[in-house]
Amino acid sequence: MATLCQTENLTDIQIQILETVKKFTDDRIIPEAQKLEHADEYPTEIIEGLKELGVFGLMIPEEYGGLGESLLTYALCVEEIARGWMSVSGVINTHFIVAYMLMQHGTEEQKQKYLPRMATGEMRGAFSMSEPGLGSDVSAVSTKAVRQDDGYYSITGQKMWLTNGATSTLVALLCKTDEGSDSVYKNLTTFLIEKKPGFGETAQGVTVPGKIDKMGYKGVETTELILDEHRVSAYQILGNEPGKGFFHMMDGVEVGRVNVAARACGIAWRAFELGVLYAQQRQTFGKPIAEHQAILFRIAEMASKVETAHNMMVRAARLKDTGRRMDVEAGMAKMIASEYCSEVVEASFRIHGGYGYSKEYEIERLYRESAFMLIGEGTSDIQKMIIGRSLLKDYAI
Ligand SMILES: Cc1cc2nc3c(=O)[nH]c(=O)nc-3n(C[C@H](O)[C@H](O)[C@H](O)COP(=O)(O)OP(=O)(O)OC[C@H]3O[C@@H](n4cnc5c(N)ncnc54)[C@H](O)[C@@H]3O)c2cc1C
Repeated sequence: MATLCQTENLTDIQIQILETVKKFTDDRIIPEAQKLEHADEYPTEIIEGLKELGVFGLMIPEEYGGLGESLLTYALCVEEIARGWMSVSGVINTHFIVAYMLMQHGTEEQKQKYLPRMATGEMRGAFSMSEPGLGSDVSAVSTKAVRQDDGYYSITGQKMWLTNGATSTLVALLCKTDEGSDSVYKNLTTFLIEKKPGFGETAQGVTVPGKIDKMGYKGVETTELILDEHRVSAYQILGNEPGKGFFHMMDGVEVGRVNVAARACGIAWRAFELGVLYAQQRQTFGKPIAEHQAILFRIAEMASKVETAHNMMVRAARLKDTGRRMDVEAGMAKMIASEYCSEVVEASFRIHGGYGYSKEYEIERLYRESAFMLIGEGTSDIQKMIIGRSLLKDYAI
C-alpha cells in the first residue's frame, strides 16, 4: 500500500479531477488553513480558485453548465479538500445539497433559473431545516408558510444553524404548510428563498442576524435566519409540490451524509499523516516514538480506521450513483466515518504529546473539527435509528 485513501476503478476523468483537486489542496489550501482558521476569516481566494476549477458545478449536469460528474467524484474531491481544511468543504456542502435537490425535484423552469448560476458559483445555496427547538426531530418544524388569497405564501419563523447563511443567495427552506394532510410529514414544504448575501435584512422579511461563534469550523459562517411575513410566490415551492418537503429534505440529507462521511475521512486522513510523521521525528528514551510498540500499534489502528471509513464512504457513493436509495449505507458510512474520525484525531493528538495542545500545530484544529462531524447531517444516535429500523424490516421474522 502506497498511501491511504486510494480508490480503485476510477475513470481517467475522475483521476484527472482528483489530481487537480489534490494539487489545489496541497498548494492553495493547506498553506493558508491555519492562519485563516485562527483569524476566523472567510477563505475568499480559495473559493475563487475552486470556482475556476468548476467544483461548485461538479455534479450539475452539463446541459446546465456543470461538469455532470458522479456523487463518487464529488465525495472524493470533498475528502481531499477536507484533508486540507474542513471549513472549505463546508462552503460547497450545502450548496451541493441544494443543487442536488433542484436536480432531483425541481421543475424544468426552476432548474433553468438556478442551476447554471449555481454551477459557476455565482449563486450559492444554503440548506435550512433546523430551528432553535429542533434538529434531529424534523417533524417538529414550526416555521409556518400561510397561503394568501393572491396565491402567494407568507412565511414567519426562526431558523437555526444555516451553514453559508450569509454568503448564500438561495436558501432551500423547510416550513409547515398545513394544507390538510393528516400526516405531519406531508404538511411540510420546501421553499426556494432568494436573498442578497450579507447580514441584516437580506430580502423583504428575511433577516440574517449575525455569525454564531463556534468552537471550530471557523472561516465559514453559520447563522440564524429570521422570517417575518416573508412573501413568496407559490412558484418558489420546490418542484411545485407542496407537502413534499420532508421527502425532498431527506433525499438531500442522504447525499449530505455521504458528504459529511467524506469530510470526516479527509480530517482523519490528515490526522494520520501528521501523526505518522511526528512519531518518526519525536524521540523519547533514545529512539523515535514510532519505535515504541504502543505508538506503532496506535498508527496501525489509525490507518485501519481511515481505510475502513474511506471504503464505506466510497461504497455508499457508488450505490447512490446507481440511482438506488441508500439511506442505510449512507447512515453507516456517516456514523463510522465520524466516530472513527474522532478516534483517529484523538490518537494523533496523543502522539503529539503537549504540542498537540498548542494552536501552532494543525492537530489542535482537527480536534475541534472532528467534534462537528459527530453532529452535522444527523448524530450517530439518529444514524443508528435509521440503520436499526431498516435492519428490523429486512430481518423481520
Ligand atoms: C456548525 C453547525 C452547522 C450546521 N449546519 C446546518 C445547516 O446548514 N442546515 C441545517 O438545517 N442544520 C444545520 N445544523 C444543525 C444540525 O443538523 C443539528 O445540530 C443536528 O441535526 C442535531 O440536532 P440538535 O442540535 O437539535 O440536537 P437534538 O436533536 O436536540 O439532539 C440532542 C441529543 O439527543 C440525541 N437524540 C435526539 N433524538 C434522539 C432519539 N430519538 N434517540 C436517541 N438519541 C436522540 C442526539 O443524538 C443528541 O445527542 C448545523 C449544526 C452545527 C453545529
